[in-house]
Amino acid sequence: METMQTQVLPVNEESIQLAADLLRRGEILALPTETVYGIAADARNGEAVKKIFLAKGRPQDNPLIVHICGMEMLHGLVAQVPDRALRLAKAFWPGPLTMVMPRGPEVSDVTCAGLDTVGIRMPSHPVVQAVIKASGVAFAAPSANLSGRPSPTNAADTLADMDGRLPLILDGGESDVGVESTVVSVCGEHPVLLRPGYVTKEQMEQVLGEEVLVSHAILEKLRPGETARSPGMKYKHYAPKAQVTILKGDFEKYKAYLTAHAAPGVFAMCFTGEGKDLPVPYIEYGTNGDGASQAHRLFTALRECDKAGAQVVYARCPLSSGVSMAVYNRLLRAAAFRVEEL
Ligand code: AMP
Ligand code: MG
Repeated sequence: METMQTQVLPVNEESIQLAADLLRRGEILALPTETVYGIAADARNGEAVKKIFLAKGRPQDNPLIVHICGMEMLHGLVAQVPDRALRLAKAFWPGPLTMVMPRGPEVSDVTCAGLDTVGIRMPSHPVVQAVIKASGVAFAAPSANLSGRPSPTNAADTLADMDGRLPLILDGGESDVGVESTVVSVCGEHPVLLRPGYVTKEQMEQVLGEEVLVSHAILEKLRPGETARSPGMKYKHYAPKAQVTILKGDFEKYKAYLTAHAAPGVFAMCFTGEGKDLPVPYIEYGTNGDGASQAHRLFTALRECDKAGAQVVYARCPLSSGVSMAVYNRLLRAAAFRVEEL
């Protein structure tokens, strides 16, 4: 693709206005959200949205999430707002929850990758809200990484992937949550969790008073020939350059395994406070048992492995419920589903 000059600007009235102008003109830009950094384009403008796919090198069959800043913006974007969506919106919007609803007439085919549904989110990040308000544009935005790489959670990591590929990155500091939004389908007979995130299955069940089904693609590899209901769940994703393996077992067994496998280029990705007792270089990614702190660190830690020259990474295994389900889901893909029981 053609390269261009990429400006990184601090957030102020002027840079928000510049971002709004770019969106209205059918251009793209990167900006912080509370989950990860995203690349935004007008969701109604297919030509604009194509530029996102080009910048990321993203497969065209992977739909994008549309971002809004008020319930009135749903008009034209969705065909209908299911009752469950209203209840979940009341509890979790603005915030890191995406709801898949019947698609409205105004969303571009490119945004939805031709599906008859659309994923919608109302983010809580003040920069997103300011840009949507200033532009009046509901924007489609995937994570601001090159396709297949870990999602960026700060402006520097966004620049590392997107330099020369888009005109503007708004620098709003670190993203709080650190992993992408929870995606839940509210189209069918039952609510279905398609991608775990900071808003948990348990929290949604409490609000809805019914079970939220879990797409099996979340914690398992797709079977050959099977199509994903949430195409982003296809298997290789979030991967650093190093080969990652998840080691399931307690810390003593983990330490023994690393002692047996220590070699140049072998790194540990462990929980906070554990690294000093290990025989290999280490990168820590949050507190044992605390999914939120692990989510906040996960993608930065994966990128730090690359920067430190890791070739083989052995990662401690998170839990698989609550916010940790999101951490485990991303780590499984970074590891191409390589898990060893200790
Ligand atoms: P990203 O933009 O990288 O956060 O990825 C967005 C993900 O949301 C996609 O890869 C899908 O997994 C999911 N998604 C978005 N829209 C839909 C939809 N209409 N139906 C099912 N999943 C969706
Ligand atoms: Mg992504």
